[in-house]
Amino acid sequence: MRLSRSLVPTLKETPAEAQIVSHRLMLRAGLVRQTAAGIYAWLPAGLRVLQNVAAIVRAEQDAAGAQELLMPTIQPAELWRESGRYEDYGKEMLRLKDRHERDLVYGPTNEEMITDLFRQSVHSYRALPQILYHIQWKFRDEVRPRFGVMRGREFLMKDAYSFDIDYAGAVVSYRRMMLAYMRTFRRMGLKAIPMRAESGPIGGNMSHEFIILAPTGESAVYYDAAFEEIDYSASGFNIFSDADLEHFFTLMTTHYAATDEKHDAAAWAELTLGRKREGRGIEVGHVFYFGTKYSAAMGFSVAGPDGRPVAPEMGSYGIGVSRLVGALIEAFHDEAGIIWPDAVAPFRTAILNLKPGDAACDRIAEGLYEKLAPSALYDDRDERAGVKFADADLMGHPWQIVVGPRGAAAGRVELKRRASGEREEVGTESALARII
Ligand code: ATP
Ligand code: MG
Repeated sequence: MRLSRSLVPTLKETPAEAQIVSHRLMLRAGLVRQTAAGIYAWLPAGLRVLQNVAAIVRAEQDAAGAQELLMPTIQPAELWRESGRYEDYGKEMLRLKDRHERDLVYGPTNEEMITDLFRQSVHSYRALPQILYHIQWKFRDEVRPRFGVMRGREFLMKDAYSFDIDYAGAVVSYRRMMLAYMRTFRRMGLKAIPMRAESGPIGGNMSHEFIILAPTGESAVYYDAAFEEIDYSASGFNIFSDADLEHFFTLMTTHYAATDEKHDAAAWAELTLGRKREGRGIEVGHVFYFGTKYSAAMGFSVAGPDGRPVAPEMGSYGIGVSRLVGALIEAFHDEAGIIWPDAVAPFRTAILNLKPGDAACDRIAEGLYEKLAPSALYDDRDERAGVKFADADLMGHPWQIVVGPRGAAAGRVELKRRASGEREEVGTESALARII
């Protein structure tokens, strides 16, 4: 992308409405713009990050055997009346009427719809287990949308739903999603901690929120230092082995970890002082077992092994895809701006042409751009060098290649790694070799 002809409206000033660093940097780096309270347009650079995050989520869902589908954002109210949630959901649910006066909702979640799709076509236990997911926009009319995309009203979620014939199967599905989640966050460079969460009457110990530590997080969190020391998802667990999943789940749930909602003062008191960690965190995902809540309410059963009808056991599994973009910035930034992990960066490299119009600079910068596009942003603007340096740091590309007139004459450029600040003068070929 050529910056001179791109909609990447970077800002020098800090927008007054933004209270936390990720919101400030998303506006300043030209990633998003608010179009209505809690509703955002994703500008080209922002959309690239969102799509990179979604791609990682998708890859790990697929690797866990989940099937992708796409359900609509608009849902008929009937389905919600069947489950009883049309009344229960309250004002967070956006309700609409079409021209025939039919009640519709803009989906805040999809348990009813997936149950309906399943009951239309699945009639035997032989077709189970299955996990389905989609990555789709949700609308929740939050009382206090804030912190930019962290708590929006419209937001992008990956939501998966599992169907099993019995409780033992549901346990396996739940653990499989937990492992997929740990791998998903790790691939983005994030360390997530699964914390016990509110599970309702049937959830038992099968409701966990995945928390990224950050001082600006909305939840107070308490956890054992063990989570800092060990990366459980890195071990070679086979996601299709029930025994491996059990081992993984035990490791994940042995040590204390809870948000303020589920904090257990007695259990906390038993932990040695040196192992207690308190802080704040951002909820980036939630896994939840709810048994036959929807299948029973919506009259969905399949023929069991003995021919008798059985209501399938279900769970749902959400990841806040758009919230993750904010959470990633909370985790990876400095005073100058964003420091994108390679896996999600909108552009892997920025090419800074310090003197457009200078024959040597143009030749080298254009040549690099030809080789590195489409994963490079070419700053070909007619701006001062200082502005280009500041914008590149702000936007957080993992690599910067600085093409200045003096070096260019000798065929050399400066290669900078954003994360470490390390700079090196190299020839163009070795710059390319380092980046690709
Ligand atoms: P919260 O407690 O933050 O309101 P929730 O528990 O209501 O979230 P879930 O129904 O568990 O949310 O949704 C799954 C995931 O979707 C959450 O873990 C979070 O990452 C994301 N999410 C939920 N609400 C929002 C929102 N208003 N804006 C952005 N992401 C959200
Ligand atoms: Mg939740």
